[in-house]
Amino acid sequence: MEIIKDISQMQKTANTLKKEGKSIGFVPTMGFLHAGHLSLIEAARRECQTLVVSIFVNPLQFGAHDDFNTYPRDLTHDSQLAGKSGVDILFIPDAEHIYPGGYQTQVAVPGLSENLCGRFRIGHFQGVTTVVCKLFHIVKPDIAYFGQKDYQQLIVINKMVADLNMEVQIKGLPIVRQKDGLAMSSRNAYLNERERKAAHCLYNSLCRAKQMKEEGITQCSKIISAIRDIISAEPMARPEYIRICHPETLQDIEYIEDRALLAMAVHIGKTRLIDNCFL
Ligand code: AMP
Repeated sequence: MEIIKDISQMQKTANTLKKEGKSIGFVPTMGFLHAGHLSLIEAARRECQTLVVSIFVNPLQFGAHDDFNTYPRDLTHDSQLAGKSGVDILFIPDAEHIYPGGYQTQVAVPGLSENLCGRFRIGHFQGVTTVVCKLFHIVKPDIAYFGQKDYQQLIVINKMVADLNMEVQIKGLPIVRQKDGLAMSSRNAYLNERERKAAHCLYNSLCRAKQMKEEGITQCSKIISAIRDIISAEPMARPEYIRICHPETLQDIEYIEDRALLAMAVHIGKTRLIDNCFL
């Protein structure tokens, strides 16, 4: 596995791969790799001739009170895991090179960034689309892989790619969960043992919502209120939002007609966790 830190070296390598006619699969991450990341890496490995994984904790997508400084980082472990997983190139740029002094350009998808996490993390998705757009220009992937765990991010990136005529195919892969249902996340590392148990209320409530839908309940307010009860019963949990929306427009809906997205953000102690499912 080759480790590349330099942006122009990554661009040269991508250009060479293109000339050789080799397809490039790309998995952008913020590192602290886990089974969720590995599912994307495995899909890219199967479908593309060359596999590039980036690790970049993007300062632009963190708000002033977010966890940029404490976000878990372990490059040694990540490079070992990436090497074992068949990654060809691990791209680890520095923030000073991605955003050099005087950097100005931003990419935004305002409509789809408005609801759900966008209401609470102002500027977050603009930070995401800006860095993903830059990474696409540097890595030049044929296919890029994202997790449905960050469902709104996936939808926003799809829209950016369509609106800006970017020649990259976006693939969204299912959420990888731990045995008890908790969605894998680098931020799970923040949870102590009690919080880890408390975090189970997210998955419990998703399951309850699915069950209600199967019982024929389609009124979103009823489902949301049942979820709120489950989460409120857990003293360490504080819901930030619980919403049911259209899976493409991300607009809130009142009744579930076809497929709907249930999405939530819940604070467990100081840790903010997100999860979602289709109903
Ligand atoms: P992150 O390092 O958290 O920015 O995540 C990098 C990519 O991995 C994003 O596309 C995430 O949606 C995806 N990802 C993170 N956790 C999971 C998970 N539990 N299941 C599937 N994909 C995930």
